[in-house]
Amino acid sequence: MNYDVAIVGLGGMGSAILAECAARGASVVGVEQFGPVHDRGASHGKTRMIRKAYFENPAYVPLVLRAYELWRELEQFAGEEILRTIGLLSVGAETSGIITGTRRAAVEHDLRIESLSQAEVKARYPALQLWKDEVALFEVDGGVVDPERAVGAQLKKAKTNGAEMRFEVAMKNWHPTGLGFELELSDGARISATKLVLALGPWFQATLESIGIRLRVQRNVQVWFSPGTRAYDAPGFPAFLVERPGLPAPLYGFPDFGDGVKAAFHGFGDLTDANHLNREIGLARDVEPVAHALEQWMPGAAQSFREAKPCMYSLTPDENFVIDRHPEHADLILCGGFSGHGFKFAPVIGEIGADLALDGGSRQQIDFLSIKRFRQ
Ligand SMILES: Cc1cc2nc3c(=O)[nH]c(=O)nc-3n(C[C@H](O)[C@H](O)[C@H](O)COP(=O)(O)OP(=O)(O)OC[C@H]3O[C@@H](n4cnc5c(N)ncnc54)[C@H](O)[C@@H]3O)c2cc1C
Repeated sequence: MNYDVAIVGLGGMGSAILAECAARGASVVGVEQFGPVHDRGASHGKTRMIRKAYFENPAYVPLVLRAYELWRELEQFAGEEILRTIGLLSVGAETSGIITGTRRAAVEHDLRIESLSQAEVKARYPALQLWKDEVALFEVDGGVVDPERAVGAQLKKAKTNGAEMRFEVAMKNWHPTGLGFELELSDGARISATKLVLALGPWFQATLESIGIRLRVQRNVQVWFSPGTRAYDAPGFPAFLVERPGLPAPLYGFPDFGDGVKAAFHGFGDLTDANHLNREIGLARDVEPVAHALEQWMPGAAQSFREAKPCMYSLTPDENFVIDRHPEHADLILCGGFSGHGFKFAPVIGEIGADLALDGGSRQQIDFLSIKRFRQ
C-alpha cells in the first residue's frame, strides 16, 4: 500500500502531525522506534510550561494563541484535562532578557500581563524571596501542559481517524522513488508514501547536518522535590521563571500538583547525542544546583529530593524551530530543532505539518522557522 503521508517519530510533534493528517482524511502511517508515550526523547516529565507573552520572540505569539485553542479542542476529544492555566510568575532584573522580552511580546500583541511590586508579590505569595531590584510580571493565562496526556490524546485521535501506527520499529533509511518515498524499517518491512514527515526530536542531528544546520543536543535534568510547606501547592501557586545573576541558566518550575515541586534550569547541561544520553542521575551534579537555586527563591520547596529524569533539548544555532520542506525534496517535511521550548506549540505544529504535507503550504506565518535562514 502507498500511504498519502508517512510520519517518522511519534513524540510531541509527530503524534500531533499524525493526528491532524488522519483527521483531514489522509491515509497515514506513523513509525516510532519506542513504545507509545515513552520517556526516552523530549516529550515526558508530567509538565511543560505554556505562556503567551513569548519573551524569546513575539513572532511565536500567533502560533501559541492558536495552540491554546487546539489544546482545548484536544481536551474535548480526549475527555481529560491537558492544559491547566495556573498563571505564570516571571522574575528578574528590569533589564533581564525574560522581563524585557515578556514586556515586548505583551505590548506587541496586547496580552494580559500584570506588573507586580515586591510588596504585591509578598502579599500574594508570602513565602517567596525576591532579591533587591528584581521585578515580577504575572501572566494570568500562563500554565502547564501535561506532555504524557497530550501525546496519548494525539495518538488516540490518530487511531480514531484511521491512522496506522508502528511502534518499536525504527526507520533505518529513506529514499525518494520519483513518486514519493520508500522507508526501510528495522523489522525488515518497507513502506511507501507520497509525502514524508520527519519529526525525529534529538535524533535529527544527522539529517539536519546533511543540509547544513548544526543541531546541538543538550542533556537537561528535570527534578522533583517534596516541599516542607503547603505554600507551593497548586492551583494557588503559579508556574515560575526566574532569571538571576549567578544561576547557570534561568530557573523554572511548577507548583506541587501532588507529586512534588518540579524545577530545572532552562538550557543548561552537557552536550550529548541522542543515542548516548547519560541517564544516570548524579546528586551533586544534577540535583544539588537546582535544589540550591530553588531554596533561594522558594524557601522550603526543596526539602527532600524525590526524583529526577534526564531529557534532551535539540538546539538550533538561533534556538528557533525548523519547520520546512527539505531543500532538495519538496515532499519531505522536516519538523525539529524545537530548542527546549516547543511542546506548548505541539498541536499547532500538527496543523502546520499537515498543511505542508497535504496542501503544500501553511496559513501560519512561519518564514522565521524556515531552513533558508541558515543557508543565506
Ligand atoms: C527537560 C525539558 C523541559 C522542557 N520544558 C518545556 C516547557 O516547559 N515548555 C515547552 O513548550 N517546551 C519544553 N520543552 C521542549 C519540548 O518538550 C520539546 O520541544 C518537544 O517535546 C520536542 O518534541 P519532538 O516531537 O520534536 O521530540 P521527541 O518527543 O523526542 O520525539 C521524537 C521522536 O522521534 C522518534 N524517532 C527518532 N528517530 C527515529 C527513527 N529513526 N525511527 C523511528 N522513530 C524515531 C523518537 O523515538 C521520539 O519518540 C522541554 C524539553 C525538555 C527536554
